Amino acid sequence: MDAHTKPNAPVLDSYWMPFTANRQFKAAPRLLESAEGMHYTATDGRKILDGTAGLWCVNAGHGRRQIATAVERQLTTLDYAPSFQMGHPIAFDFAERLAEIAPGGPDNRLDRVFFTGSGSESVDTALKIAIAYQRAIGQGTRTRLIGRERGYHGVGFGGISVGGLVNNRRVFPQLAGSDHLRHTHDLARNAYIKGQPEHGAELADDLERLVALHGAETIAACIVEPVAGSTGVLVPPKGYLDRLRAICDRHGILLIFDEVITGFGRLGAGFAADYFGVRPDIVTTAKGLTNGAIPMGAVFTSRAVHDALMHGPESQIELFHGYTYSGHPAACAAGIATLDIYRGEGLLTRAAELETEWHEAMHSLRGLPHIIDIRTIGLIAGIELASRDGALGARAYDVFVDCFQKGLLIRVTGDIIAFSPPLIIEKEQIGEIVSVLGDALKRAV
Ligand code: PMP
Repeated sequence: MDAHTKPNAPVLDSYWMPFTANRQFKAAPRLLESAEGMHYTATDGRKILDGTAGLWCVNAGHGRRQIATAVERQLTTLDYAPSFQMGHPIAFDFAERLAEIAPGGPDNRLDRVFFTGSGSESVDTALKIAIAYQRAIGQGTRTRLIGRERGYHGVGFGGISVGGLVNNRRVFPQLAGSDHLRHTHDLARNAYIKGQPEHGAELADDLERLVALHGAETIAACIVEPVAGSTGVLVPPKGYLDRLRAICDRHGILLIFDEVITGFGRLGAGFAADYFGVRPDIVTTAKGLTNGAIPMGAVFTSRAVHDALMHGPESQIELFHGYTYSGHPAACAAGIATLDIYRGEGLLTRAAELETEWHEAMHSLRGLPHIIDIRTIGLIAGIELASRDGALGARAYDVFVDCFQKGLLIRVTGDIIAFSPPLIIEKEQIGEIVSVLGDALKRAV
């Protein structure tokens, strides 16, 4: 039975859904009612295998009792306390716990943590910290922010300014002075790669071009997703991130990794910074931070960035920035319970154990109709389809609807299908993903 013919089906009029064609959706809604482990249950009772960890966030799988219990306990102990000029122990505890696994390696972790409510807030916070840092070290002319074409950094005005997705930008004004590196998507040289492509490290030199164009003394920071997710799984070429780091160092530019999707085990290490062995100055996170159970983000900074802002009179607010829900007690409780699960079940490295299996399964789809590229890294895959008659995204959307009807949740962006399953996935479920998708592609026109 379809959702709106059910006797107690919800009325769909009032909720204005984000990033959704509302009128199309409401005509044929897909509603998920419950979730457990690797599966959702739709309102018509069908089990749906979660190929996307919700939206790249439910890394430990759904319905984790430990998280629910911790949140309930926290809400009945201390539901909320002001986040300004007042503190509560659990936010400090959570930050200390995060500091133990923070990106950057054992001797040099980015172990100063600023809490936010989402990935978009983390990005705007990181950009502000970068500009405030430059000013604090006497580099007040450095306010320009550099992002990358095909980058996604959320929907705040900072995030869309450094982001490189035309649909996020065309209607809205952006921060003056923001500019973009070229993207690294290069099907001609790098199609069907497992892991990092061989070609394209020199694309990082584009930052030198922007330095020459604008002057290093105007640039505060450069932000990139180590692996771009929402724009179709773009894996950095070997050497690219190291080269970006070196150029930033040469010119006094802070390097920010947006790890909202790559943080917390997605690549088989705690963070992409560790996986690629490149240490940025600031890392943005959200999503897997609380296993998606409670909205929350966190920005990790180096001590150098943090400490530069801690000077001045003690009574002074060092960074005039923050949110009502920064370090929300329930979110911190969810986060601590999530970290316990990640560590207890070895989930931060599980993607590394499954990587070969995952690569092989995904690349076995090669040769099926419409596929023009397959990219895999960690527990991520991007499967790029040829567009149908120039209608960008139409074919992938049909495949998405077909897969959903057959019990598999995939994510599509343009004509690229992205997979990022919970890290608890079993080998048979990897096989199921490939089989359902393969059949859908054979049916697709
Ligand atoms: N940065 C990246 C890299 C993301 O993938 C996302 C969300 N997909 C965001 C920022 C924004 O996060 P949120 O939707 O929680 O604001």
